[in-house]
Amino acid sequence: MAVYHADALVIRSRQFGESDRVLTLFSRELGKLQAVAKGVRKPKSRQRAGAQLFTYGDFLIHRGKSLDTVSQCSPKESFPYLWRDLDRSFSATGMAELLDVSTFSEQPNKELFTLTLTCLFLLEQFDPFLILSAYALRLMEILGYRPLLGECAECGGNVKGERLFFSVEAGGTLCGNCRESCSGRWVRAGSIAFMRQLIRHDIKKLDRLRWSAWMQEEILEILRIYLEHKFERPLKSWRMGSLTRDGSGRNFDGKEGKGNE
Ligand SMILES: [Zn+2]
Repeated sequence: MAVYHADALVIRSRQFGESDRVLTLFSRELGKLQAVAKGVRKPKSRQRAGAQLFTYGDFLIHRGKSLDTVSQCSPKESFPYLWRDLDRSFSATGMAELLDVSTFSEQPNKELFTLTLTCLFLLEQFDPFLILSAYALRLMEILGYRPLLGECAECGGNVKGERLFFSVEAGGTLCGNCRESCSGRWVRAGSIAFMRQLIRHDIKKLDRLRWSAWMQEEILEILRIYLEHKFERPLKSWRMGSLTRDGSGRNFDGKEGKGNE
């Protein structure tokens, strides 16, 4: 039976049978893959740590007929601070879910792997929602889905004003002429400019950027609606995040209107 190594991060870990887990791994060399970690739900299992969400390590995997099996894991990092508060857990889970829905199995992407690992490390010190937003925008840039921010997504013309019209269907901001034919919503120009900074700014100095509560809320909402439209499915952890942020239980439903607020 063939055996291979994967330098990988656990981006999903779900129960399987009585004592196993199915892991979704994102690996540097092989991209996304799935493997069963056997017996890891037993209290005495030595492989338990390697089956935890966000564990980064070296996995030794047996190639199986239908499912591969993890035979050994040497963890390198477990990011314990991700579990210390809800905001950090939410941001890391939001990143993992986005990575899972936006990628196909066994399509390596080293740039995306490095971005993910870097952002998990940055979550120790930085504003977790700033990291999540920068991660989502940069992931889309790498995968070629980045929205147009500050020029018209339809005609390439200039967009102006304190509020800009953003359409998920068109894939970005729209000028006055083009918005007549598209549905979308109004976004403050400051939020659009800040999203551009989240992509361009040195990622290790992101903590120098400052945003207000309304800008954070607006950007996270726009990103979630855009991502859900792009990948055609709800992002569960992003929706839960809205609940934890303002504590009201309100869920942003991203209502789309035609040119009105
Ligand atoms: Zn236009």
